[in-house]
This record gives sequence, structure tokens and C-alpha cells, in this order.
Amino acid sequence: MPWFGMTVRILYSGLALDRAQTVRRRADITELARMPSARFAPYWRGLQLIGGNPPAALWAGADIALPLLDSLDATCLLLGMDDRGPLLALDLSRLDAGEGGPALGPDLAGKWVMLRSVGGQLPAEDAALLAYARGMLVWRDRTRYCSVCGAALAFDDAGHSAKCVSESCAALHFPRTDAAIIVLVTDRSDRALLGRQPVWQPGMYSCLAGFVEPGESLEEAVAREVFEESGIRITSASYVASQPWPFPSSLMLGFTARAEGGEPVADPHEIEEVRWWSRDEVRRFGEADAPGPDGHFLPRRDSISRFLVDRWLRGGD
Ligand SMILES: [Zn+2]
Repeated sequence: MPWFGMTVRILYSGLALDRAQTVRRRADITELARMPSARFAPYWRGLQLIGGNPPAALWAGADIALPLLDSLDATCLLLGMDDRGPLLALDLSRLDAGEGGPALGPDLAGKWVMLRSVGGQLPAEDAALLAYARGMLVWRDRTRYCSVCGAALAFDDAGHSAKCVSESCAALHFPRTDAAIIVLVTDRSDRALLGRQPVWQPGMYSCLAGFVEPGESLEEAVAREVFEESGIRITSASYVASQPWPFPSSLMLGFTARAEGGEPVADPHEIEEVRWWSRDEVRRFGEADAPGPDGHFLPRRDSISRFLVDRWLRGGD
């Protein structure tokens, strides 16, 4: 999969897997799950199964997955097809287990983890696949009844769509993706606008971000969010890149923007502090586990916020 001219692959993006739309339309999910070549990405209460050194996604074969699928009446959906067969996501949240998660046998001896905590250490394809599986299963878990009339739903397209069973309603439902902009604002003095929310670990600063609202273009959302959070008016905005962010269901749309300057004023509801930083100041920022000399650090390298800041430090706009 090309990265569309990007020199750096943004984590959770660039999935090479064939999403197999034609298979989705004609195949029954229970038939797909019963193909001998089927492999399953297990998911349990928001956690996913990782093993090995270096860590990688663990896949369950039919011997482990099918008895669980049947006994739990578990949610199972098609992710796509590779040259070996179907890859499926399997939600085992109905399994009772302690905090460490259920044991699935010696071949799947790994750890149940939150994807965000290990995403940057995984092979890029595994990170993208697990993000996709997570996004789909979170949607399925939160989509149990028709949001129009409250009736039950019948899932179709190998798990990728749902139809209300009420004949008078028959509303269709599809996996949800919430658009959110994230923006690195710079000014004429070559400074970057970074802020922090009070809930973040002390010392962390990041780009400004927010959800796109109905009736708003992406550029308008960028201008509104920057003004709301900092009181700064931008004069231009340019799209850079995007990142799937299934925590729980966002698509982050990364922008750079220009402002004349001015003194930022933090939105008291969302932002604890926002200010302009020079490149030299930002270069002194560290990581969460090793903050810079002034106690500051940037978001983790798996985030598009970090991508935008690193890109600027390398000389981008
Ligand atoms: Zn309905």
C-alpha cells in the first residue's frame, strides 16, 4: 500500500489487507468463519492479544475460535482476505476472566493489551489491522438497536452493515467514523501554538484538536477550534495527512495553519494552558518517560499530533 507520497507511515494507516468488499456482499459470516483457513483476531473488553518478542498480533485458528464463537454466540465479522484466507475479528467479551483476560491456550500465550499502549512497537501492518478490528468491534458493541425506532438489528455484509428488523422502519446502519481535526498553527515568527488539557499528564503539550460539527467544512472546523481553544485567528489552513484513531471511533484529519500571531488565551473549559513555542524550545521537549530539561514532553510517536510537530521540526510548515 503506498503512503500517498508521505515519507513517514502514520501509525494505524496504510493497511495492505484486501477488505474484500465483493466477498462481504455475497458470503455468509458463519460460512467464512468455518473455512479451514480462517484466522481470528481476538478481542476482549477493549483489549487485544499481543505476543512474542518483538511483539506482534496473535491470531487464533479455527480449533480455538470456533468453539468460543458457538458457545458465546460471539460477534464475528470479516476484516478481509489475504493470500491464506479470511481474516476475522472475534469479540470474546462474554468470556468471564480476571483482569489479565482469558487464557486461550499455549499457542496464544500472550498479553491482553490496550492497542494504544503497544501500537508503536508492533509491525505497522499489525497495528493497522488491530486498529481496524478495534474500530469495527467498538461500533458493533455500541450498535445493538436501531437508533431510529429502537427495534433489533440484523447485521449483514459480513458484519459491516445493519438493517432494522422493523418493516415500517428498515433503517440502515453503517460503521461510524467521527471526523476530528488536529492542527499545528505557526505564526510569522516561526513559532508553534501548543496547548495542554488539564486531564493530561503534567508537562505534556500537543496540537489543538476538536470534532468537526455538522454544516462545517474541515477548514472552518480548524479555524473555529483554534479560535475557541486559544483566541487566535488563523489566516490559512492546509491539509497534511489523516490517521484512523479507533479510541473509540475517530478519524484524525491533520492540518497546518498560519496565524499572524497575537497572544493566546486558553479556553477555560477545555484548555489549561496554550502558548507559542519557538523551534528551539520545542526541540528541548522530551518524551513522557524522559521529559526535557524544562519538564516538557510531546505526545507519543503513535499520534498524528507528534507527526505534525516532528514534521515542523524537520523544516516543514
Ligand atoms: Zn428502526
